[in-house]
Amino acid sequence: MARLISCSVCMRVHSKDHICDAKKKRRLEKNKGRVDSDIYGGNKWRVTRWQVLEDCNHICLYTLYKEGKIVKATDVHHIVEILEDEALAYEKENLIGLSKEKHKLIHELYKDNKKLVQEELKEMKRMWEDRIGIPLG
Ligand SMILES: [Zn+2]
Ligand SMILES: [Zn+2]
Repeated sequence: MARLISCSVCMRVHSKDHICDAKKKRRLEKNKGRVDSDIYGGNKWRVTRWQVLEDCNHICLYTLYKEGKIVKATDVHHIVEILEDEALAYEKENLIGLSKEKHKLIHELYKDNKKLVQEELKEMKRMWEDRIGIPLG
């Protein structure tokens, strides 16, 4: 029988080999931090992010299609987040230029309705592509 320990993460007693939810969560967060800084700190990301902003003329597409207003895009958002699929980290199709304010909002909206918001963002990208008539990516 496996040895029981008093787990320092979840504060409960369970077998030494058991990966409790608290531990899983902590691992995931640690891993996220590492992957994010690998990507955001790199030159490849700097170039990709600039290209994405250039492709949308530095306009926040979310504000444009939601409110019909032109607001400067300063952030580049991963529609499918890095943690969900690291392979899409540099895929332009998966990236969208947003203002700081809307970027924050999108991450809030992801908490309740991720799939729906992701579809909405993809649709906005398609609309933009059609409008300017040059393929992205
Ligand atoms: Zn535990
Ligand atoms: Zn984001």
